[in-house]
Amino acid sequence: MIDFKAELDEEQYEAVVNSKGKTLVIAGPGSGKTRVITYKIAHLISSGVKPSEILLVTFTKAAAKEMLQRAKLVSRSTLEGITAGTFHHICNSFLRKYGTIIGLKPNFTILDSEDAKDVMESARSQIIPKSESKTVPNAKQLLIINSYMNNTLCSLREAIAKYNPRYLEQEKLIEQILIKYQQEKMQQNSVDYDDLLINTLQILSTNKAIRLKESSRYKWILVDEFQDTNIVQFQIVNLLSEVHKNLMVVGDDAQSIYSFRGARFENVLDFQKEAKIFKIQTNYRSSQEIVNLINEMLPKNSIHKTLRATRSTGVKPFLVQVFDHYDEADFVANEILNYNKQGVSLNDIAVLYRAHSHSLELQLELSKHGIPFKLYSGLRFTETAHVKDCLAFLKVSVNYEEKISWIRLLKLAKGIGKIKSNNISEKLTSKGLDAFNEIKEKSSDFNKIKEIILKSQEIKNPGERIKIFFEKFYEEKMEEIFDDARDRKEDIVRLIEMASFYETPENFLSDILVSENYEIAQEGKSDKETEKVTLTTVHQAKGLEWKVVFILSVNPGDFPHIMSLRDGALDEEERLFYVAITRAKDFLYIIYSAGGSSRIFYGNDYIIKRGKSFIDDIPFHLVEHLEYGVGK
Ligand code: ATP
Ligand code: MG
Repeated sequence: MIDFKAELDEEQYEAVVNSKGKTLVIAGPGSGKTRVITYKIAHLISSGVKPSEILLVTFTKAAAKEMLQRAKLVSRSTLEGITAGTFHHICNSFLRKYGTIIGLKPNFTILDSEDAKDVMESARSQIIPKSESKTVPNAKQLLIINSYMNNTLCSLREAIAKYNPRYLEQEKLIEQILIKYQQEKMQQNSVDYDDLLINTLQILSTNKAIRLKESSRYKWILVDEFQDTNIVQFQIVNLLSEVHKNLMVVGDDAQSIYSFRGARFENVLDFQKEAKIFKIQTNYRSSQEIVNLINEMLPKNSIHKTLRATRSTGVKPFLVQVFDHYDEADFVANEILNYNKQGVSLNDIAVLYRAHSHSLELQLELSKHGIPFKLYSGLRFTETAHVKDCLAFLKVSVNYEEKISWIRLLKLAKGIGKIKSNNISEKLTSKGLDAFNEIKEKSSDFNKIKEIILKSQEIKNPGERIKIFFEKFYEEKMEEIFDDARDRKEDIVRLIEMASFYETPENFLSDILVSENYEIAQEGKSDKETEKVTLTTVHQAKGLEWKVVFILSVNPGDFPHIMSLRDGALDEEERLFYVAITRAKDFLYIIYSAGGSSRIFYGNDYIIKRGKSFIDDIPFHLVEHLEYGVGK
C-alpha cells in the first residue's frame, strides 16, 4: 500500500484522494501541483483504474516522461497503455486514427514552421497579382494572423485587426490566400501545428459517435499548467471528458505566460465556476528567504496567494548590479565555477533570460572556462545562419583554404550559381587570394566580396574586419535574405563588439570554434556522465527547478522586453519575471546593469530610458546587494 498521507501534506492529500468530477487545483509556484497530478495517477491505479483509462496532458514531452517515471515508482505499476503528452502529441495520435473523416490520410506529414512558410509563400504568389505584392502581408505575417485566428477561434477580421489594422483593406485577398494555403496543405496530405488542434476539435465537436467513443475511454483526464491552455485546447479536454466528467486541472494564474499563443487564463476563471477547488499554500521548493521575495512580487491582477515556506537557508536572494552585459557574463561564469568547486553539480544550476540573444556573451564565456552547458531553446549563437555567414567571411579572410566557407560566402553573391561557385572556390583554395586576379566575373556582389576580402587583409582587429564586411555588403544583403533582418542585425552588431576585444582574427575564431568542438566532443554522452549548466529562456523554464538560478539582464528593454515596453503589455512580463524567480530552490541571483541595458535598440532609446524596471519593485530589505565589474 502506498502511504499517501506520509508523502503529501494535508491540502495535497485532499486534492489527490478526495477529488472527483471537475477539479481545479489552483496554487502558487512550488506548492506541489505537479506532484499532486503524479500522485493522483498512482492513486487512481491503486483504486483500480486502468492506465489506458487515463489521459495526462503536460506542457512538454519531457515533463510527461518525468511525471510518468515518478508515478510508476510510486504506484509500482508499469502504467502501460496510459496516454500522456502535450496537446500536440495527443491530437496527432487522434488524427492518425480519425483524420480520414476530414480527408486526411493516416500517413499525413507535419509541416514545421519553415515548411509552413514555404507553403504559405506558394499560396500567396498564386493568389495575388504582382502589383499588390507590397501591400499584402508576407508569408510570415500571414502565418501569424492565421495562427492567432486558429488559437483564439476569432474571425479573420479580428485577427487582422489585432495584428495590424492597416491590413484590413486586404481582408478579401488574405482570406483567399488562407483558403489556398489550406488547399495546398490538403493536396500534400500535410498539416501545420495549429491544424493538429483545430482538426481534432472539429472532429470531436461534429462527430458524436467518435466523441462518445473517445470520451467513454478516458475515465480520468489530468492537465498540468492549465493556465497556459488556449480555448481550443480547453474545448478539446472538455469534449473528451463528456462521458465520465472527471477532469482535474492544476495551474497558477500568476504564471500564465503564453498569451501570444492564444493562451488565456480566463480558462481558469471559467473552469472555477463549475469545478471543485482545492488550494495548496505551502511552498516546498524555495527557501524562506526566496519565498519572502516571491510573496512580494505577486503579479498584478492575479488571485491572491501567500505562500508558506518550509525551510530556511539564511541566505537572501542576491540583487547584483553589474557594469554591462560583458561583466554580467563574467560574473555568472565565475560564480558557477565557485559553486562547482564547493561541490554543487552543474546540473543543479540554471541561467534564465528573457530572450535567447541575451545568452550570447555567456555562452562564449562559459566555453572559455570550459564549463559545459546545454541550451533549452534557440540555436547556438554560432549556428545561426547570419552569424555563420559572417564567420565564413572571417575564416576565408585568414585561411583561404576553407572551401566550405568560400561556398557559403559565394552563395550570397547574386549571379553565382552552384557550378561557378565550385570553380571559383577551387581556384581560391588552391592558389590563394591571388587567384582573384584570374577570375573575371560580372556579378557585382562577387566583386564587392572580392574587394572587401582584399581590403580586410590590412585590418588586424577581428571586430573591425567583420564590420567592413557587414557595413559594405552584408547589412544590405540581410534585408533580402531574412524577414527578421532587424533582430539579426543586432546579433551581428554584438558579434562585432565581442570580436573587437580580441587582438587577431585567429584568436577570436579559435575561441568561438573551440566552443563548438567542445560541444561536439560532449555529444553521445548521456547527461549523467557530463554535468551541464542549463541555459534557457524563462518561457522554457516553466515548471522546472534548480538549486541555483541566475536571471540575466533585468533591464528595461531586455526584461521587460522592448516590445512590451513599446505597446504597454507589461502584465505578462510581470508574470514572466514571477515565473523566473520562483524556479530557485536555494540561491537566486537577479542581475541588472548599472546604466540600464547596454544593448542596442534601433531608435528606441527614449522608451528604454523611461521604461519600467523590475528592480524598482523589489523591496530592498529582502535582498542582498552586490556590485560587480567596472567594464572593459
Ligand atoms: P510550478 O508552479 O513551478 O509548476 P508546482 O506547484 O508544480 O510548481 P512541484 O514541482 O510539484 O510544484 O513541487 C515543487 C517541489 O516541491 C518539488 O521538488 C516537489 O518534489 C517538492 N514537494 C512538493 N510537495 C512536497 C511534499 N509534500 N513534501 C516534500 N516535497 C514536496
Ligand atoms: Mg508544476
